Formats: sequence, structure tokens, C-alpha cells
Amino acid sequence: MARRETSFICQNCGAVYGRWQGKCDACGEWNTIAEEASARAQMPGRAPRKGRLFALEPLAGAAHDAPRLASGVAEFDRVTGGGFVRGSVLLLGGDPGIGKSTLLIQVAAALARGRHRSVYISGEEAVAQVRLRAERLGLSSASVELAAETAIEDIVATLGDGETPRLVIIDSIQTMWTDLVESAPGTVTQVRASAQALIRFAKRSGAAVILVGHVTKDGQIAGPRVVEHMVDAVLSFEGEGSHQFRILRAVKNRFGPTDEIGVFEMTGGGLREVANPSELFLSERDLGAPGTAVFAGIEGSRPLLVEIQALVAPTSLGTPRRAVVGWDPNRLSMVLAVLEAHCGVRLSGHDVYLNVAGGLRIQEPAADLAAAAALVSSLADAPLPADAVYFGEISLSGAVRPVAQTAARLKEAQKLGFARAVAPEGSGEQAPALKCVGSLATLVAEIAANGRRRMENGRRNSAGG
Ligand SMILES: [Zn+2]
Repeated sequence: MARRETSFICQNCGAVYGRWQGKCDACGEWNTIAEEASARAQMPGRAPRKGRLFALEPLAGAAHDAPRLASGVAEFDRVTGGGFVRGSVLLLGGDPGIGKSTLLIQVAAALARGRHRSVYISGEEAVAQVRLRAERLGLSSASVELAAETAIEDIVATLGDGETPRLVIIDSIQTMWTDLVESAPGTVTQVRASAQALIRFAKRSGAAVILVGHVTKDGQIAGPRVVEHMVDAVLSFEGEGSHQFRILRAVKNRFGPTDEIGVFEMTGGGLREVANPSELFLSERDLGAPGTAVFAGIEGSRPLLVEIQALVAPTSLGTPRRAVVGWDPNRLSMVLAVLEAHCGVRLSGHDVYLNVAGGLRIQEPAADLAAAAALVSSLADAPLPADAVYFGEISLSGAVRPVAQTAARLKEAQKLGFARAVAPEGSGEQAPALKCVGSLATLVAEIAANGRRRMENGRRNSAGG
């Protein structure tokens, strides 16, 4: 009888160890290593299969785009790059309770309404619960086929029987298990083997498969980080509990762009698509308050206006605090250093907080100028003009550098009623009230002057009254 072999596998990154240890050397996580039956021991010694011959093709030849099936949910299709590719597998990650199941039942229903067979397999909830949700969303009439199953072999056999579905949703991959491995559901080995079986099914049948994956606190897709490398696209569904906004983002996409975002609003009737996100992100603006600047950004192919909020306050600690939500902390440090070195703005005795409104995450360096304006505005207690937008990259020398897609940014600002734009020099004559700044120092001096004027006016008023 063969000895039953076990190995110790990190549930976070999939690294394999000969014995248990507290910390994973590969990813640095603690208490993530669990004992699992070794995969090799479970594969009985089979003779290696003789390879099948396939045709090799020349490099030159007619290129054709992968045929796509649009779901009809425009914000979803934008992120996937125009719809589902036949035989592709997509991983949708997100915090538990963020609305992944709601989004997917809406996508499945939209596809079913277009007379495409779509199947929803839930390993988390009973059929009655999924039905109840569909009813609440007003989707009961859509011909989505449901099942509550977790055994991969049964699922693949059922899906392979009869007409091939165009879309299969597996909610979630962490609840699935296959007979091929002995480990418990949710372990790396199980998740990987189950995903492999579903990917094989997708490639063979041409059905598009969406795997739902839950995400841990630090933003990693729990356990199945290994799955991220196996699938064609990884989407993440983000949002904060206190906001009704939800953002769908492509983290990886073999068939499309990775910088597009889809914006949804969570309502009582489900997720509503937001075709013009700028209006939504600016809807809660604090007009006339110091420390806020509107950034004219670009997300993917779409301009997006968003408010950047800063708070600069004297520190009571030895080391001042630097906290940032929605922006790169390294860029904040850089902007602070440039302000200090080239503009005479001393912030070493101040706590600095920076926040991107609406729970959005900005990655563009073009936000530098808006962040700097918000910081100086807060420090000088001088509100920025409410009808101005800001964009531009700041270099270490304090110069403001031009950024891409200036025209689209200005057009969006104009459309939303902004009369002024503060932008890098050379942005062109695309808007009548465009103010070009060559260096950060000029902008800082101007905001500071406004602050002084405001303070003097205040003193005069209080002396007079
Ligand atoms: Zn690890």
C-alpha cells in the first residue's frame, strides 16, 4: 500500500513546505500554512499519454478579433473589453457583501433576456435564496437556470449535457470541490484543482465562465491567488460600505484593456449603471471649504472629475502623521518634498491627511497638481475657486509637466459647468479660461496670497464690527 503523503502549503501564495512552520518564507504571511494531502500521491501511476499532433501556422495570416458576446450591462462590458470571449474564464473578486452576486445575477439575466443560455451555480446559497434576490431585483422572469451545487464533477457533467450554455457563473470558487484531490474545500489545492476543471470545461465547450472569489482584508483574493494566473481576466469589484458607489476594475485582462472602470450605484432595486460618474463623484461637494480641489482625471478611455480633499493641521506628535486614502502614499511624499524644497512650504510640523472623495482610487500622476493645490489650500486656509479644475504632473524640480488627453479633460470640465482649468503649460488653446502654470511655486504663491487677503479681510471685518 502506498504511503499517504502530505505536504504543507501556504494558503496565501501556494508555496509548498516539507513541514509546518509559522511564517511563510515566500510571501511573509503568518499562520497561512496548512497540511494538505500531496497532489502527487493522489494521482495513481498512469502511463504517460502519447501526444496528439497539431498543425503549426505561419506568423503571417489574417488576424481576427476574438468573437465577443456583450452582456448588455454596458458598464460591465466596458471593463471586460466589449463582452465575453468564447471559452474565456474570468475571476471576479471582491469583499464579501459588496454585491458580487447581485452584479452577476443582473449580468446573467441580461444575457438570458438576449436569448442566450446562462447558468448560475451557487455554492454559497440555496436556490430559494438566489430566487429571492432575483425577485427583489425584478429579474424573476429572466430565464436564468439555477442550481445549488458544489461538486465539480457533477457540475461539469450537467453543463456538458445538452445545449452548451454561453455563460456559467460559479459563486464562489472557494466553496467548490473535486474528487481528484482529498483536501478540504477552500484550501489552495482544492481551489486550484476545481478552477482547473472549470477552465478545461470552458476551453472545450466554448462557454464563458465567471468564477467568484472572496477577497481578504489586504485586497488579495483569498487563497486562490494561484487562480489569478490561470484565468484569462481578473476583475475586482470595489466600494466602501458607507458609499453607494461600486467600482468594477480589470486587474488583468488577456483580451482587453486593464485601465477601464465600470461605475455602479447600489440601490434598493440592485446595481444601477452610472453612465456619467463625474456627476456622481461631485454630487457631495463641500463648496467654499479650504483644502478641496477638483481633479480632472482619466480612467481608461473616459474622463472623470473627482474631488481631492486635504487636511493639514499642526501635529502634536514627534513624527507627524501622513495618511492617504485613494492615492499613492509615495506620490504624496514626493509632492510634500517638492512643496518643501521649491515652494517654501514647511510641512514637517504638520499632520497631513489626503482623501479621494467617493471611495475612488486614483493612479494617475496627473493628480499631483490637484493634490498640491488642496494641501496648500488647507494649510493657508484659503478655499480654491469653486469653478476650477486642476491637473498636471509635478516633477522633482517643481516644474508642472504636461499630461495626456488634455482635450478630453477640459471638455468634461466644461460639460459639468467648470469655467476655469489650472493645467500645465503647453496645454493649448482648448479652453477660453485655461490657466497654464509652469511651476508649482507660482500656484502656491497665488493660493497663499488669497489666504492672506482672506485673513486680512477677516481681521478688518472683526475690527469694524
Ligand atoms: Zn505564502
